[in-house]
Amino acid sequence: MVAHILDGKKIADSMLRSVKREVATMKRKGVIPKLVVIQVGNDPASTIYVNRKHKTCIELGMKSEVRRFPSSVSYGRILGEIRELNEDKTVHGILVQLPLPEHLNHKKVLETVAISKDVDGLHPYNHGRNLLAKSGMRPATPTGIITLLESTGAKLEGKNAVVVGRSNIVGKPVAVMLLNKGCTVTICHSKTTDLGRFTKDADIIVCAVGKPNLIKGPMVKKGAIVIDVGISRLKDGKLSGDVDFKEVSKRASWITPVPGGVGPMTIASLMCNTIAACRDIEWPQKSG
Ligand code: NDP
Repeated sequence: MVAHILDGKKIADSMLRSVKREVATMKRKGVIPKLVVIQVGNDPASTIYVNRKHKTCIELGMKSEVRRFPSSVSYGRILGEIRELNEDKTVHGILVQLPLPEHLNHKKVLETVAISKDVDGLHPYNHGRNLLAKSGMRPATPTGIITLLESTGAKLEGKNAVVVGRSNIVGKPVAVMLLNKGCTVTICHSKTTDLGRFTKDADIIVCAVGKPNLIKGPMVKKGAIVIDVGISRLKDGKLSGDVDFKEVSKRASWITPVPGGVGPMTIASLMCNTIAACRDIEWPQKSG
């Protein structure tokens, strides 16, 4: 068996084309969706991600602003900045690029973002809505993962899904989303003993760790769908996922490449969240 490639770039491009059309319609109605990204410090990987988000917004005809602060910025200054953006009627989405320096309480910072503008879906309220399977902003990477899984045409209900990684950004929210889709979900992490025992039984593996080649061929059941979220930079400068692509693609039915799998879907999902926030703020529907 040779796995089909789950082409995140292709699916993301199609999502972005539809976002672009909606932005054009919003503009004709006099509204331009605007995303503001807050970056603290100058971590090179964060800068690449922030620039990519900015560039995509501009390509789609949206407004984008990046507010950069030195690592020494005070906690009060960041909270004040977010509160100001919460009140700014021209801003529809606010994203705080993680990780933040230690001295900033990242939980409190994320809680300060207005729920209606929380396009990263990381406010505890939005995590709670996900847990309760209620509508709301969902984190971008988990949303992208679910879209990729659904694009295979496979029925998710009844499948055994193993999520490796339990972060608040990827592992936990995607596990909840899979549970809400009717999967039987196992969450593994650094304290899990014998990871392969769990992955070998999985119809779906989502790996979000950041350790190259953690998932080897013999750890994967024949026909499984494998989503590789991890991104690590190898010594030779190349990017690597968490999955041994060469070995695992001989066993899986579908597999995401790195790069070109989950990464583009994260950006596309963020753009979808931003126009959804704009729609909800500018043209609120009466909720039942
Ligand atoms: P975190 O570092 O927050 O979480 C990593 C998780 O992996 C933790 O839960 C940790 O367990 C677990 N873990 C560590 N070692 C092992 C191991 N040997 N076996 C099983 N589990 C292990 O990372 P993130 O969730 O933020 O990101 C994970 C990866 O995904 C990174 O490579 C990141 O760059 C990438 N990423 C990619 C995105 C994309 O768009 N493609 C978006 C976001 C992230 P414990 O909790 O016990 O410490």
